[in-house]
Amino acid sequence: MSEKFDYKGLGLKCGLEIHQQLNSKEKLFCRCPTIIRDIEESNYDFFRYLRPTASEMGETDRAALEQSRFMRRYIYKGYDSTCLVENDDEPPTKMNREALDIALSITKMLNMVPVDQVHVMRKIVVDGSNTSGFQRTAFLGKDGYIETSNGRVGVGVLCLEEEACQKIEDRGDSVVYSLDRLGIPLVEIGTDPDIVSPPHAKETAQQIGMLLRSTAKVKRGLGTIRQDVNISIARGARVELKGVQALDMIETMVEREVERQVSLLAIRDELINKGASVCDTIFDVSDLFEQTQSKVIKKAIKKGKAYAVLLLGFSGYVGRELQPGRRLGTEFSDRAKTSGVGGIFHTDELPNYGITAHEVADLRRRVKASDNDAVVMVADIEQRARAAMESVIMRANEAIQGVPEETRRSLPDGNSSYLRPLPGAARMYPETDVPPVIISDEHFAAIEMPELISERAKRFESDLGLHRDLAEKIAYSVYLPLFEEIMRSFEGNDRINATLVARTLTGTLAELKRDGVATDKLADRHLVDVFNLVAEGGVVKEAVGDLLREMGSSPDIGAKDAASRLGFGKLDLSEIEDMVETIINQRSDFVKEKGLAAVGPLMGIVMAELRGKVDGKTLSEILKQKINKYIN
Ligand SMILES: [Zn+2]
Repeated sequence: MSEKFDYKGLGLKCGLEIHQQLNSKEKLFCRCPTIIRDIEESNYDFFRYLRPTASEMGETDRAALEQSRFMRRYIYKGYDSTCLVENDDEPPTKMNREALDIALSITKMLNMVPVDQVHVMRKIVVDGSNTSGFQRTAFLGKDGYIETSNGRVGVGVLCLEEEACQKIEDRGDSVVYSLDRLGIPLVEIGTDPDIVSPPHAKETAQQIGMLLRSTAKVKRGLGTIRQDVNISIARGARVELKGVQALDMIETMVEREVERQVSLLAIRDELINKGASVCDTIFDVSDLFEQTQSKVIKKAIKKGKAYAVLLLGFSGYVGRELQPGRRLGTEFSDRAKTSGVGGIFHTDELPNYGITAHEVADLRRRVKASDNDAVVMVADIEQRARAAMESVIMRANEAIQGVPEETRRSLPDGNSSYLRPLPGAARMYPETDVPPVIISDEHFAAIEMPELISERAKRFESDLGLHRDLAEKIAYSVYLPLFEEIMRSFEGNDRINATLVARTLTGTLAELKRDGVATDKLADRHLVDVFNLVAEGGVVKEAVGDLLREMGSSPDIGAKDAASRLGFGKLDLSEIEDMVETIINQRSDFVKEKGLAAVGPLMGIVMAELRGKVDGKTLSEILKQKINKYIN
């Protein structure tokens, strides 16, 4: 496969940070269950104002500082399944040993060196996602690795942490959080920057994901695993891409970030050649737009101001694309938006948006811009507009430096947008409410290593006779635990075989979903119920799909009810024979002409008639026998 960039030549450095929720019964520092609730079930709430003080933070943290420019109100929704610890009204309990052991088994699978004492630390969090203002985290292991097709990727760090609150709604001046997720144990796994290409990033993430799921003690489903990707190229800067949820996007994300850094460096070189600079004056240009046709600006200057800044030598660069559909101007706009404005205008895209050529000429004249220069403007209430322009000045200056270090939010299309500055390192201090835990050599040695999913797939192939594709499909699917449970409970029953179960779970359900059946309504118990009926001989295995379809639309009924609704149920052999004979008689010419070759075409007709009542093999035999009899 040819790659878009010479990643080695560019000096790509790439590492992953993977966050995975653990499926322990209780939370990390209280005895509450680790269950996710419906926000409608919340039975109390309270609010806080959080603003970190300089003394708490030690050295001033850039990310904290940016966040603390705004005083926001944080509203927390509680449940009957949360307690005073989540509310931060009571100190944390001792660390949950079950969660600790799960995390230690992961440490072991990643070939890491464990700590001998677990110390809980507090990590400052300034977005309100923890009621206490910090997240508790404990360093568990270092110096591990995994094997990949491109050699070893180092796994430098594993921490056991408490999950933050789920953000429910951002209202601008206030944010609503849900407390159910707060405190669920979470492992944070950081790889070394050993990843050499976008496909390698995906492979590494897949490999670690497989290891995690092999424990069968991690949470599954949307949002339970989150990937951050750290990327830089040789002359660029470290950028952290946050919250890559779909594994399939990792490859694109890495490629797009490299593309972005390459573009930013090219722009920098050209700007330096041109002697570009940023004028730090903010011009009030409100009067130029008093008669404007632009509704946005007109509305904004009624209660605010229109401001502009002059970027010398920037003409043509603000509109230059960095990633498909995102320009340098988009990056200016992202920064401006952190002040609460809706967006910016720049001369590389004007006249447009109701702003006329005449107004652009006036604007240029006012700030004394030449044809080589770009002008960026914004209109909003005075304070916001000014802060937005300050952000643009800062970002434009960075464009002359190269690539800024940033934390960026990953977007669904593989691009990313500005989130906040990269956090500094000075964010931790000891948690004095939780005593350290000793990890003895004996304890670590006794931690069991689960069978890997990749090994399990091989075993399904050799022991259960599954085709390789199907074996891998079921081993890597979310239905693996259910598959194993069903195989265990029907062991020795020859009506239930591995192929039937695996195909139902990986194939039939997906087909039903495509047909519009509400398969999300089908719980494990529905599936077990259907296989039970097959195992008892109540229906034939061909009936499984139809039963599930029926139960998908009426989740309250059992497999037996579904079978009787559909008229399924085993027929006597004589009844089947009668039906087959009728069908042959109705098509006597066809049967006479084709002889035994009529079996194939008639099979479809007979199956449609007897669907779910007889298995295919029996039917085919009866059909053959009856045709034989008929033509002789
Ligand atoms: Zn609790």
